[in-house]
Amino acid sequence: MSNHSDVIVIGAGFAGLVASRELSRRGHSVTVLEGRDRIAGRTHLEQHLGRDLELGGTWVHWTQPYVWAEMGRYGIEPVPGAEFTKAYWHAQGQRHEGTADELMDLLDAPNQQLLAEARRYFPLPWSPLANPEVSIIDSTNLSQAIEAMDLPEAQRQLLRSFWALNFNGKLDEAAYSQALRWAAVASGSWQLMFEACASFKIEGGTRRLAQAILEDSTAEVHLGQQVRAVRQDDDLVVVTTDDGSKYSAKNLIVTVPLNVLAHIEFQPELSTAKRAAAERGQVGMGAKLWIRVKGVHERFVVMGPENAPLNFAQVEYTDAQTTTLVCFGPDAGAVDVHDKQAAQMHLDQLVPGLEVVAIAGHNWVDDEYSRSTWPMHKAGYLSGSLAELQKPEGRIHLAGSDYANGWGGFIDGAIESGISAARTVLRELAGEESAQNLQSV
Ligand SMILES: Cc1cc2nc3c(=O)[nH]c(=O)nc-3n(C[C@H](O)[C@H](O)[C@H](O)COP(=O)(O)OP(=O)(O)OC[C@H]3O[C@@H](n4cnc5c(N)ncnc54)[C@H](O)[C@@H]3O)c2cc1C
Repeated sequence: MSNHSDVIVIGAGFAGLVASRELSRRGHSVTVLEGRDRIAGRTHLEQHLGRDLELGGTWVHWTQPYVWAEMGRYGIEPVPGAEFTKAYWHAQGQRHEGTADELMDLLDAPNQQLLAEARRYFPLPWSPLANPEVSIIDSTNLSQAIEAMDLPEAQRQLLRSFWALNFNGKLDEAAYSQALRWAAVASGSWQLMFEACASFKIEGGTRRLAQAILEDSTAEVHLGQQVRAVRQDDDLVVVTTDDGSKYSAKNLIVTVPLNVLAHIEFQPELSTAKRAAAERGQVGMGAKLWIRVKGVHERFVVMGPENAPLNFAQVEYTDAQTTTLVCFGPDAGAVDVHDKQAAQMHLDQLVPGLEVVAIAGHNWVDDEYSRSTWPMHKAGYLSGSLAELQKPEGRIHLAGSDYANGWGGFIDGAIESGISAARTVLRELAGEESAQNLQSV
């Protein structure tokens, strides 16, 4: 077969790009097969509403060591986001108004209580299974954890809305352990955790960082190559794409999102536990929508009802005549990213009196290459699936944000996991080379 290399990497998101850089810089031939016509996966910087907008992953932070190091490596600076002065929040059918600090104060006590045990369950946050007691709480979902708390109803609703935002999905599926683990990687502080998720962007956008990693690699990248099938035997892995092309390699790194995994045919099949995890999928099935409104507005943040089509919005940019908001909702099916009139209705529910000029967004859940947004775990995933998904299957290795140890769900986790998979494959290739050398002696 002419399309042969040492390693094939499926997917050119951050995990795939980093894995292929690590391997190709050590002299291995690497072929990257990417289904889309672009790199960077669930991050996508594109011109909309008169500026470059991040349609997917955006924010990074120095508590996220892998992405921060990559930015440092390529001389890419962080860009601080807007400071908020005003806040609105919804509770018990009422809209309240105050300062951003007041809203943070309201969230403080309930979050402290909810996350008090973060460091006990995750004493070594990058070894999420270090404390076996994790399995005891792993079947609890966030809805149950919050309902078990003794809270005034208004605070409970606010707390639920906050976590529905964080998971970009439904709380009755969301793992409580994921919330604790997330707080643990931010040293147990919910404020730091929140800051990490919405304060600093990448100068030049995610595209610039992805491009820098790609240019630092000698991997051969094939865009528009959707992988349909993977077959492995004792010596080789053969990958077939939708146009019938075949590629072979000694090792394969699969970086497709968990929710996409079941749409690739593996022969022999992946383990039962891996397939079960892929069938269950992730919680993040929501929406991210950019809305430009008339007029220059004070920098505000708004938290809406937990299950409103848009349950969160914040001011991101202002110019002479308009204000651009970034908004999120827990259900992609409830938000048409092309319907301006519907966006007006959703926004009216959050903050009345704003006139929508234009909208932009991408439906990541309808997208066959992602089928999810940021991968937040379901109850039971951590103790039941993560270690299994990280385990190589013959010559096949899974990598990506869905399978990370630390900031799982984030760009940082994708990079961590890509580096880890590349390290394992490097070891395997070195083992095969020394075995071959021994045979030829
Ligand atoms: C709306 C949204 C907001 C987010 N916000 C943030 C944020 O602010 N900060 C943050 O850190 N993270 C954020 N994330 C999460 C972050 O973007 C992802 O966790 C990360 O980019 C995932 O990288 P990955 O390489 O693991 O997977 P992906 O980026 O999904 O890469 C997988 C690649 O595989 C390709 N692929 C899939 N199927 C096939 C196939 N059959 N054949 C060939 N190729 C295939 C895909 O096209 C894709 O390029 C957000 C994500 C979304 C969607």
